[in-house]
Amino acid sequence: MSVEFKCPSCGKKLFTYEYRVKKYGEVLKTCKKCGEEYLDPRYHELAVEGIPEDEFRYSPYLIMIVIGGLLIWRGIHLFSRYQLGLPREMQWLLPVLFTGLGIAAIIGALISMLSIKTGRKRIKFERMLEESKERMKDAGYVTTIRRLGYNVPDNMTNYYDRQGDL
Ligand SMILES: [Zn+2]
Repeated sequence: MSVEFKCPSCGKKLFTYEYRVKKYGEVLKTCKKCGEEYLDPRYHELAVEGIPEDEFRYSPYLIMIVIGGLLIWRGIHLFSRYQLGLPREMQWLLPVLFTGLGIAAIIGALISMLSIKTGRKRIKFERMLEESKERMKDAGYVTTIRRLGYNVPDNMTNYYDRQGDL
């Protein structure tokens, strides 16, 4: 489900997003209209939340392949049908669109699965985790996102200091 996000300070509509789609990176953003800082609900700090194991599952991509297959099947079926309401010179449009979307979905899913299989996706996440750890070393950043409501565990503030002592 799509949710509209408005700046908590000035109320300007900033973006719409899907609850389930997670992005990883800096959670602190600045509103272009009023200049106040806000938490971007799309983003997550990997140093706080950990690398999510469900990012390495094949099942969403298998579903994409099935959907892609259905789209291709539908597209091929439409090639032999005359579509009412579409002019003669546009008859190719729907079958080509369906078949093309289906092929794109399957190729996209296979590329994603390959990047999991080869470990490239995990390497990417580990790099993002290191970047997140760097951000969390910045006490100002941690204080600000915590004030804005991001749940940073108490032991996180001096976690890296303690690491340094080892
Ligand atoms: Zn604002």
